[in-house]
Amino acid sequence: MNILVLNVGSATLKFQVVVTDAERMAAHRDDRLIRGQIERIGGEAIITCRSADGVPRKRTAPLRDLRAAVEWLVGFVTSVESGTGLTSRSELHAVGHRVVHGGERFQRSVAIDSSVLHGIEDTIELAPLHNPHNLRGIEAARAALGAGIPQVAVFDTAFHQTLPEHAYLYAIPYPLYRRHKVRRYGFHGTSHRSIAYRWRTLTGRERTDVRIVTLHLGNGCSACAIRGGESIDTSMGFTPLEGLVMGTRSGDIDAALLDYIAAKEGLTLPQVEALLNNQSGLLGISGLTNDMRDLLAEADEHQDRRARLAIEIFCYRARKYVGAYLAALGGADAIVFAGGIGENSSEIRRRICEGLQWAGLHVDAAANASLIDGREGRFSTDDSSLAAWVVPTDEELLIARDTFRVIAGIETT
Ligand code: ADP
Repeated sequence: MNILVLNVGSATLKFQVVVTDAERMAAHRDDRLIRGQIERIGGEAIITCRSADGVPRKRTAPLRDLRAAVEWLVGFVTSVESGTGLTSRSELHAVGHRVVHGGERFQRSVAIDSSVLHGIEDTIELAPLHNPHNLRGIEAARAALGAGIPQVAVFDTAFHQTLPEHAYLYAIPYPLYRRHKVRRYGFHGTSHRSIAYRWRTLTGRERTDVRIVTLHLGNGCSACAIRGGESIDTSMGFTPLEGLVMGTRSGDIDAALLDYIAAKEGLTLPQVEALLNNQSGLLGISGLTNDMRDLLAEADEHQDRRARLAIEIFCYRARKYVGAYLAALGGADAIVFAGGIGENSSEIRRRICEGLQWAGLHVDAAANASLIDGREGRFSTDDSSLAAWVVPTDEELLIARDTFRVIAGIETT
């Protein structure tokens, strides 16, 4: 089955076409025909992609809105010039969508029908910046491929719906949960699930045997405690702002700071929230950049004090969460790193793991250094009782597989 995977953001559309079915999944031989993104939708959009032939392609096109972008994309991926080998729209059999928020209603991936669309609409209040784009993506795909095309929604929150009450409730008046659904939802669920699945495949374990801490460290960062293959705690909360230090997000802070900063700086509460989301984290501390690569270079080449501080606070917070999740899990078999930073920076991995010798984790420096650019493997020493791994996340593959499973009536986990 040829599946178009769409991940719709505010001005960017990431896409892939994945070929998968039961046999390919079992043999881990899913094919990726193309992957890429469309940026600057709304004006002269820039499309960059790479298909299975390995040739990078770049195009520009005037794409006034998302609908135009999806229409263009469908035409492109089914044309000879895309290098996918597809020649007609009817060769796209289904569309899988990343949907950010599924609230409490969506605990698994689902086939999109009008009741699911209403359900996603009902969740807009919880994710006003994301779910509207996701809905528009679904409408755009239907317009481009016809109302008969099967579409599946894969939610970022769904994997964390297994959190026990004591992990998802905040210690605030309980009626706020009942009345307004104020609780921890967690995000990056598709990524944590993908990492956990790949790790158990690599180590030959059953799902019920998985007891790990996963660290998704990209622009957004989150940690997840996984037991029996299920998420039992995660660092992002009601929104993706909570938890680890991120590129531009503060992660955990004292809630009383909102009012204090607003008063001192003459800002409204939404402005303070924007400051915590967009001007904080690595960017806020360093005053330089949210890009970890550049920060590491600044700290190394110019001994920039605030760049160093940003890196230190980032690693310290991550280690603190690992410690907390080891306690939540009653010990774990591995810590698994993923995301742009987790997959590429042996330096950050070393720093996070350095303070975990007490837990039986000892880094093999050569193995750690070798795990970059999408390579997967273990980088703890053989005698470590807590292992450390790099397992690149592959959310799009999981979305494609879930899309197939939902359409084929196979249970998703
Ligand atoms: P997103 O969360 O937007 O998907 P990514 O997972 O691509 O982001 O991660 C982006 C982050 O990964 C950036 O901070 C970038 O600097 C960092 N990164 C990528 N390569 C390296 C590297 N070699 N060393 C350190 N950080 C890196």
